Amino acid sequence: MARQLYTARLEKKVCLSESAQCYHFDFVIDEIEKFELEPGQFASMTAPDPTGKQQTRAYSLAAATNKNHFELCINRVEGGFFSNYLANLPIGATVQMHGPHGHFVLNTPVTDSFLVATGTGIAPMRAMTQWLFPENGPDRSNGKEISLFFGTRYPTELYYHEYFTELEKKHANFHYTTTVSRAGEEFTGNRGYVQKYISERVEERAKQLGITLPMTPLPDDTPASELKFDIYAYICGLNNMVSSVRDALTGYGWHKKQVIFERYD
Ligand SMILES: Cc1cc2nc3c(=O)[nH]c(=O)nc-3n(C[C@H](O)[C@H](O)[C@H](O)COP(=O)(O)OP(=O)(O)OC[C@H]3O[C@@H](n4cnc5c(N)ncnc54)[C@H](O)[C@@H]3O)c2cc1C
Repeated sequence: MARQLYTARLEKKVCLSESAQCYHFDFVIDEIEKFELEPGQFASMTAPDPTGKQQTRAYSLAAATNKNHFELCINRVEGGFFSNYLANLPIGATVQMHGPHGHFVLNTPVTDSFLVATGTGIAPMRAMTQWLFPENGPDRSNGKEISLFFGTRYPTELYYHEYFTELEKKHANFHYTTTVSRAGEEFTGNRGYVQKYISERVEERAKQLGITLPMTPLPDDTPASELKFDIYAYICGLNNMVSSVRDALTGYGWHKKQVIFERYD
């Protein structure tokens, strides 16, 4: 079946980090009333490259549904076609797209969750937290503990920091941990990779549950109700980080079903 292709008009573009050349985009699809999406999904953006060849790239939707708008968070990749094409797109210009696509979505009913992101991998986490804790409307987190771990190279790359900081103040069950791997000496926040902070949290939870780590791995077909550890992890970013966090969690004996991920490369 042919995919429904939409024309998206760039309404707003905000530079989130000059040094990382990262932008937040707000697109409108004028031909529809509502762009239905599940937080965590992506849009496929499509445009011809300088040789005339049609190129398509996936970009995570950076906001929960908002009428006929969709938002993206993209950084320029050196020498890359599409990221630079979008970063150079003037306000009012249009681009073709289809979607939403993808299965990187929250389990329902909502469970205690780790949201783990590096770099622009924060985009789907913003959509998920907007859905869980809407500004207007009922809380969908069901009182479950939602822990966001966000790692970047520099403090200036902690995109949407204000939003997540405010969210943590407003919701006792939302926890926001940042860590920076290449900060200068003056930086006083957490340092290193996200893995360290996730491990600390897993070990803390195991103690609360009276579980000795690592747990004995369970067969692949184990029903969700029989999983011993009660947290699900959603991981998004470049492959190195995703694989490393996955390996760490499965190494503790977490079941594969509890580790849901999206790789950007
Ligand atoms: C499901 C999914 C969701 C994604 N969501 C986002 C998102 O929200 N924001 C975002 O910025 N990107 C996202 N990406 C990555 C995006 O699709 C492109 O791969 C990225 O923008 C590079 O495309 P490009 O055309 O500029 O580079 P290309 O011309 O495709 O590649 C140029 C060079 O860069 C390398 N490269 C490719 N991708 C990356 C990357 N992500 N980082 C570093 N080097 C890379 C390639 O190996 C190649 O050597 C997502 C990818 C997937 C699969």
